[in-house]
Amino acid sequence: MMIQDSFGRIHDYLRISLTDNCNFRCFYCMPDEHYDFTPAPLLMQADEIIALAKLFVAHGVKKIRLTGGEPLVRKDAAAIISALGQLPVELVMTTNGSRIREMMPVLAEAGIRTINVSLDTLQEEKFLLATRSKVYKRVRENIDLLLDQGIAVKINTVVMKGFNEAEINDFIAWTKLTPVEIRFIEFMPFSDNRWRSDRVFSHQEILGSIGRAYTYRSIEPRLNETARRFEVPGHQGSFAIIGTMTAPFCSTCNRMRLTADGKLKNCLFSTGETDLLQALRAGEDVLPLIESCIRQKKEALGGQLDQHFEQLDAGLLKNRSMITIGG
Ligand code: SAM
Ligand code: SF4
Repeated sequence: MMIQDSFGRIHDYLRISLTDNCNFRCFYCMPDEHYDFTPAPLLMQADEIIALAKLFVAHGVKKIRLTGGEPLVRKDAAAIISALGQLPVELVMTTNGSRIREMMPVLAEAGIRTINVSLDTLQEEKFLLATRSKVYKRVRENIDLLLDQGIAVKINTVVMKGFNEAEINDFIAWTKLTPVEIRFIEFMPFSDNRWRSDRVFSHQEILGSIGRAYTYRSIEPRLNETARRFEVPGHQGSFAIIGTMTAPFCSTCNRMRLTADGKLKNCLFSTGETDLLQALRAGEDVLPLIESCIRQKKEALGGQLDQHFEQLDAGLLKNRSMITIGG
């Protein structure tokens, strides 16, 4: 039996946040630098994550993405990854790339074939500004390590006007000899993340910048694709744009999000959430809760946003911060 919403969309992709803790402090993600991370007992324990994942897989989930916070800072990340690697599911991960080297054997053994690494700039000083972390070189080396190991790498790049939009073509230049897919992401509003509409660099503006320096062509979308994909002829890598603010992709959405404290969100922008962890701990039947949460899914953008983001007052949005949702 599949998990389906009231618009007939089948939900077979689960994103699990392993923690809201992180060793970076990206200004567009963290509510503030002194954010208090969720205490460990309130987080899903490893066995609870596995139990919930098994339930989702038994009901049609084909793909699981581990995210966070930074998934690889969790102390028992290796055990969780190994256990999930046993399930009949495509396991992928989004990471800031700082801890790949030490986790490489676990990732390989769990059969992870694709990893998204976040990188918003190719300039070391700007990286420090964006993340408050000094490990730019390590992240670049870890990306090379993944490629050497035959793991496909997608680079998540949040484009923010006045911060990194001038680097878009440096990223495209990188794809000439490096087989990475750069995913340019429009800057999205979350609780206290310093979002302003005039910082959004839109899908059209991104394409405009690239078009001034390169000839590109579209690539056929994959099923349930959230990004529009393109290639520059002759480049080993490719690029894509995730235009949540100006060109959303809700009509084919198949995603569900489980927060690190065990709440199910039916959309990145949903106002509500359903507590699966409490039910699991109380020995209740969790499946009806999942089904009802997904049935309540709104047609687009959690029913909170529309494409006229210029008028949006981010302060009125009802949501968590990105670090507590798990991108
Ligand atoms: N720590 C991991 C990482 O940085 O890849 C995983 C979690 S992070 C919340 C997941 C993704 O969300 C990252 O690629 C990050 O750049 C993106 N993200 C965070 N805040 C965002 C925002 N306000 N708008 C768009 N993307 C955002
Ligand atoms: Fe941490 Fe990722 Fe958020 Fe940056 S984007 S603060 S690395 S969770």
